[in-house]
Amino acid sequence: MSVTGIETVDVPVEACRLVADYVVPCRADTPADVIAGGAVDIGPDGRIAAVGRPDELGPPPGPVRAVGGLLLPGLVNVHAHTPMSLIRSVGDGLPLMRWLKEAVWPLEGRMTPDDAHVGMLLGSAEMLLAGVTTSCEMYLFEAEVVAAAASTGARLVITPGVISALTRNGDVEPRIDEITEFHRTHHRPGERVTVGFAPHSIYDLTPAQCGEIAARAQAVGALFHIHLEETRSEREQVLAAHGATATQLLADHGALEGPTLGAHGVWLDETDRRLLGEAGAAVAHCPQSNLKLGSGIAPVAELLAAGVTVGVGTDGPASNDDLDLWEELRLAPLLARGSGHDPEAMAAPAALSLATSGAARALALPDVGHLTPGTWADLVRVDLDVPSFTPLRLDTLLTHLVFAGSSRFVTDVWVAGRPVVAGRRLATVDLGAVMAQGQQRADRLAGA
Ligand SMILES: [Zn+2]
Repeated sequence: MSVTGIETVDVPVEACRLVADYVVPCRADTPADVIAGGAVDIGPDGRIAAVGRPDELGPPPGPVRAVGGLLLPGLVNVHAHTPMSLIRSVGDGLPLMRWLKEAVWPLEGRMTPDDAHVGMLLGSAEMLLAGVTTSCEMYLFEAEVVAAAASTGARLVITPGVISALTRNGDVEPRIDEITEFHRTHHRPGERVTVGFAPHSIYDLTPAQCGEIAARAQAVGALFHIHLEETRSEREQVLAAHGATATQLLADHGALEGPTLGAHGVWLDETDRRLLGEAGAAVAHCPQSNLKLGSGIAPVAELLAAGVTVGVGTDGPASNDDLDLWEELRLAPLLARGSGHDPEAMAAPAALSLATSGAARALALPDVGHLTPGTWADLVRVDLDVPSFTPLRLDTLLTHLVFAGSSRFVTDVWVAGRPVVAGRRLATVDLGAVMAQGQQRADRLAGA
């Protein structure tokens, strides 16, 4: 039972062999690899013990379960502010800065730690039911976000936020110390939690402060996660104030020297893209949020060509308005092709990698996002026995998965070998209670 009184169940690891009609491992070196009649062995440590055709594998690590359908890695949402599920859909129609100042921040200002906890439970449940096993969260209330993900069983990259409004006289030092301490106490990859640092943006803080935060993240090998070039006006504002782009300023202040994730990247120019590619940095592509807020379309094909790692993210559920990463997975190639007038841009395996292996790389999580022996058994089963997967052919399967696939076909989900969704039902938390509390708390925040 958590502080919110919502019942939770600790689901144990289930060592077994899952035999499916198809297994899509999403390995970076063979992204189009599909194993017909494949199996995935989940070891007692929650890691993948073997992947392949059952007749090629050794003895199974537990019961053999013929699950049918298609198994693929759990999807990875690289940029989210999930507790914002409690303020889903607010301020529709406002441009970014007005949306933040007039709609979002006043409501978030009233949020209590327990509200954030319930908001994270709600969004985390939504993601798991959609087959999204990992999310990278940029938010305050980091302890509550961690506790909620621990309850639902999701994998979490928590990057506690640094925003100027919460500093005294612009002094970010106390908050950096707090996050450093939080990293020390909560960074537990074996327990599904990694911790990073998240300055809101270079326009909210100063380039020097961002450099300082990056240095502290680099000192502990943590992810540096920052909003980057989301809107044109933000780009122009930074250029006018500093005579350089946000990316150039980050590079000048040493902020690209560790694992770096820039969220959005809609307005990055060629020099920015080259700098990010040379630094080995990543961009969180959030197409649906960018479209909803009218921010534009990120140059994803150009980013990938420059060697930038790209993963897809939903952004917060207030600007999306859901956490269904299948929509981003489909929008990414559609927008790349449509905006580039190029039907060959972003083939299906490349699109799929933006939500699997590429996304995991963007979060510096080598053991996630692909089905390889030794990696975490974060898996999703997709039902293929539905009209939109008929007819089914091996040569079109991945195209089908990207362009006709949907969260509504996800039936079962494992995180670190624990079956957290079974038969479309969340096994770890009482979803009805979470939704009821979510509604109640959202009503209070809205002043209803
Ligand atoms: Zn964001």
